[in-house]
Amino acid sequence: VIKHKAEVVICGAGIVGLTLARQLISQGASDIVLLEKERELGQHASGRNSGVLHAGIYYPADSLKAKLCLRGNILLKAYCKANGLPVLEFGKVVVAKNEGEREGLREICARAVANGATAQIIDEQRLAELEPYARTCSEAVYVHNTAVVDPQTILTKLSSDLIQSGKAQILTGVAFNGIKGSRTVQTTHGPIEFETFINAAGAYSDRVAHACGAAREYRLIPFKGTYKKLRPDRAFMVRGNIYPVPDLRNPFLGVHFTRTAHGEVSIGPTAIPAFGREHYHLFDGLGPESLRILYQDMALFFSNVKFRTVATSEPWKYVPRYFFEEAKALLKDLRQDDIEACEKVGIRPQLVDWEKKELVMDFLVLKDQERLHILNAISPAFTSSMAFAEYVVNEHLS
Ligand SMILES: Cc1cc2nc3c(=O)[nH]c(=O)nc-3n(C[C@H](O)[C@H](O)[C@H](O)COP(=O)(O)OP(=O)(O)OC[C@H]3O[C@@H](n4cnc5c(N)ncnc54)[C@H](O)[C@@H]3O)c2cc1C
Repeated sequence: VIKHKAEVVICGAGIVGLTLARQLISQGASDIVLLEKERELGQHASGRNSGVLHAGIYYPADSLKAKLCLRGNILLKAYCKANGLPVLEFGKVVVAKNEGEREGLREICARAVANGATAQIIDEQRLAELEPYARTCSEAVYVHNTAVVDPQTILTKLSSDLIQSGKAQILTGVAFNGIKGSRTVQTTHGPIEFETFINAAGAYSDRVAHACGAAREYRLIPFKGTYKKLRPDRAFMVRGNIYPVPDLRNPFLGVHFTRTAHGEVSIGPTAIPAFGREHYHLFDGLGPESLRILYQDMALFFSNVKFRTVATSEPWKYVPRYFFEEAKALLKDLRQDDIEACEKVGIRPQLVDWEKKELVMDFLVLKDQERLHILNAISPAFTSSMAFAEYVVNEHLS
């Protein structure tokens, strides 16, 4: 039965919408409706990510990402443990491909420590104890706090907690269609009146904000992340997470190895421009908007260095030989036939300030009277989600 009145309506039941509902209930809310256009949860970023609980080591100290990531990591780990959900706590190593990257390692270690993570520079001998097959140039960074979880089991548990509380209803297969007046949301199943509306629509959050008359200067550009995996009989080569030194000016971390909660070792993800917000496969997810996205990509290509760097470097990873060389730089004894195809694919929507033609590097929360828009919930928003929900409710809704 669909209610037509609620205290809070949340558009989107990804990790951001679910954890916000949970936080609101813990602070007294008792009448929340979540709208989810898909019939099942986890069809988009929250169910298609790497499952890494990051430690917040890359971000400038004054960013929301830096402030919320480690606390989110701690809260989500505790939630998984309390509920018997899988958590792999093996930490992560960041390795250098050459002498030139050693400075980058030191910078990452300094940022990690400044952001509260437990991280240290280690030598090759210690690296060999932690990750016997990892390759580096003299030194590496070891980050203790990084862990791996199973995102889908977390979404399932969070949604069942909400339903059991009797204080939230998750309407799957029901989409936001617009706003009428100041306090009514139009859905595919009729109108719902609200006191507060929260836009947590992930890849569509700019469109939902525009429909509410907000955030006109922002647009989301989708990037596709594809993965490969290690052949099961070679998966022993990676115990936890092995990452390269990233280019900190860009939003993506480079091809890396992650042991998943199910024991597979995934390699990736890539980050190439996609031509649809849900363009997961060759023609699947393309539509009338694709031409506009292509035009936006081209406009950014010529006006933004970060975008140009990503757009020119990432597609090379589709060339198997190139992908292999990138992966081999992190792992000794890796052979090309150790790498297998992997079905997993995700889309990372990246927010662009279209007036400045700049990629937005941090989470963004915009409040417009009784409507709140969560824009740019990019990585590490899965990790940060519970801390982000605390922040949003305390700073913007109390
Ligand atoms: C390949 C990849 C790897 C990543 N790796 C990591 C990682 O290791 N660690 C990490 O912390 N983060 C990672 N991330 C980022 C993380 O997955 C996202 O930051 C996070 O899942 C965003 O959550 P969300 O709830 O905002 O979005 P989503 O999960 O996309 O949820 C939004 C929901 O809104 C719904 N929706 C949209 N429009 C409407 C509408 N009109 N009406 C009703 N419902 C609507 C959608 O169906 C969707 O379910 C990764 C992301 C990708 C794609």
